[in-house]
Amino acid sequence: AEQELVRSQRYESLALLAGGLSHDLRNILQPLLIAAPMIAERAGTDQGVVKFARMIETCAKRGMDMVASMLSFARGARQINPSLPVGQLFRATELLLQGTRPRSMALSVQLSDDGLAVAANETELQQCLLNLCLNAIQAMPPDGTLTLAADVAELEQADINADEPAVPGRYLRLSVIDTGVGMSEEVRARLFTPFFTTKEGGTGLGLLSCRRIVDNHQGVMRVHSTPGVGTRFEIYLPMAQAATERERQDYDGRGRHVL
Ligand code: ADP
Repeated sequence: AEQELVRSQRYESLALLAGGLSHDLRNILQPLLIAAPMIAERAGTDQGVVKFARMIETCAKRGMDMVASMLSFARGARQINPSLPVGQLFRATELLLQGTRPRSMALSVQLSDDGLAVAANETELQQCLLNLCLNAIQAMPPDGTLTLAADVAELEQADINADEPAVPGRYLRLSVIDTGVGMSEEVRARLFTPFFTTKEGGTGLGLLSCRRIVDNHQGVMRVHSTPGVGTRFEIYLPMAQAATERERQDYDGRGRHVL
């Protein structure tokens, strides 16, 4: 089962990468597709320029076709469970954490309601939770307490930054809380910078990948931390029903892209 998880995580990562790449590539190719015909049009009688402009256009079109097939691969790999029970998610996380923390470290699981569920890609969300838990464990003394909590919370327009894909409404909030070292303002400001790490042998990619996963679910991430006291990471994800509707729009190609 563990090998299966690693394998599917690799596959999901590949899909995530393909999605990100397609997105960037599309932004690069789009201007070429617009500019090439304009060059051809203004070339006047210079057939040489027209020929080169057409060449650019043809290549840009081929690039866009590739982008389209990469995007469909990326979407195909992302199965959204319309109603993933949070209890199940937390139990799986507990299992995966066994052996990664000292015996003296306490684990507390708090669900505000047994029926809490979220519309999400299980592997991605699992990976995100696991990253946050491992960070929490690494930040704590052996007698610390790791808390996994879930409840429902409201997000208002003012709570959402302009660069976040989320919309105001009721969200399912997952919190990973530690009683660890906390972080300084300097560290907090750089958390999501690629390769930023304060750990020897750290990759500095864990939180970035979490954020990307949460973004892909049209959710948001929040961090509260006090040096010497501890840290709370919060993930706001659309409630099961609302998210399903939005995902469907994405697949129809009417809404925003998933990746
Ligand atoms: P890595 O764990 O490889 O360093 P991350 O992107 O997961 O990469 O984390 C980046 C940095 O954020 C960490 O090196 C650490 O300084 C800080 N950090 C993350 N989680 C916590 C936490 N729970 N408590 C304190 N600091 C944290």
